[in-house]
Amino acid sequence: MGGRVVLPGFVDSHTHLIHAASRAEEYELKIQGASYEEIGRKGGGILNSVRKLRAESAERLKARARAALEEFASYGTTTVEAKSGYGLDLTSELKILRLQRELNREQPLEIVSTFLGAHVVPAEFRGKPDGTSRYIALVLGRMLPEVVSDHLAEFCDVFCDRGAFTRNESRRILSAAKQHGLAPRLHAEQLSHTGATQLGVELGAASCDHLEQVNTADIRALAKSETAATLLPGCDFHLGWANYAPARKLIEAGAIVALATDYNPGTSPTVSMPMVLSLACSQLRMSPAEAITAATVNAAYALRRETRVGSLEAGKQADLAVFEVEDYREIPYYFGMQRCWMTMKNGEIIYMRN
Ligand SMILES: [Zn+2]
Repeated sequence: MGGRVVLPGFVDSHTHLIHAASRAEEYELKIQGASYEEIGRKGGGILNSVRKLRAESAERLKARARAALEEFASYGTTTVEAKSGYGLDLTSELKILRLQRELNREQPLEIVSTFLGAHVVPAEFRGKPDGTSRYIALVLGRMLPEVVSDHLAEFCDVFCDRGAFTRNESRRILSAAKQHGLAPRLHAEQLSHTGATQLGVELGAASCDHLEQVNTADIRALAKSETAATLLPGCDFHLGWANYAPARKLIEAGAIVALATDYNPGTSPTVSMPMVLSLACSQLRMSPAEAITAATVNAAYALRRETRVGSLEAGKQADLAVFEVEDYREIPYYFGMQRCWMTMKNGEIIYMRN
């Protein structure tokens, strides 16, 4: 067999898998330069996805996610982290996490569940003086205990940013989650610098994700820690922000850099890890080898699965992706092209190009 390259299956360590619909209606506003906040005021943004998800049936949400998972596999991905966070009420958050559990059992990709009840404050709690604290009370008092008692998630994430949760609120939520046995991870320093990275390191988070706004002290803290630095260049690319995370500085400082798609309808509508590799090379200035490492074994580490997946070694699962290229560097080199020829999960072929 010539002209093919075998890699470990990609581990996509940051996705918002379950959502009701695209947000293509906001796309033109974004192209025209509308800010996150302006789009929110026009009824767009995360709350738009929340409204749509609450109104959607579990069957349709599941069918949409299942179709996406087949596409993930067709690009060489074999493990997918998935977050709740478009429900933001008890019923809808549990609905998402239960669907993730069903999908994990019913299709070949492994799904790693993260509870993101603290994505943003939902509309019904906004505009009231104690709205945020009442919503946090709901997350901690009602949602978290149910998630834990039903074993619906392994991780707890918080969107710690302007317009979402402060560092102190994030600390409260993640500390409580940790006491309940959920490992913390964070959306950190995407839109503004909040100190979320330092908080993540302090709490022993599995990963701090985004990191567009990190400063030198954050980079140093990550480098000294066991917390992965997960970069999501698809987001900046889709939004046209050209505000990519300082991957080179993170790598040179010694941080554990991972890459993920951040598959979601608002800021990164892609399931393609090869496209993320292309962005990592051309925009983040990572070498093809660094990018592949970040999308496989480092991402497995970010999901605490590095002993089981993420590399081709005796004793690990046979999760692999085969590409129709002459040289591994051609995987990021051909951008936006489908070069994946076959994907295997646990020794079974789950995708084969016709
Ligand atoms: Zn995200």
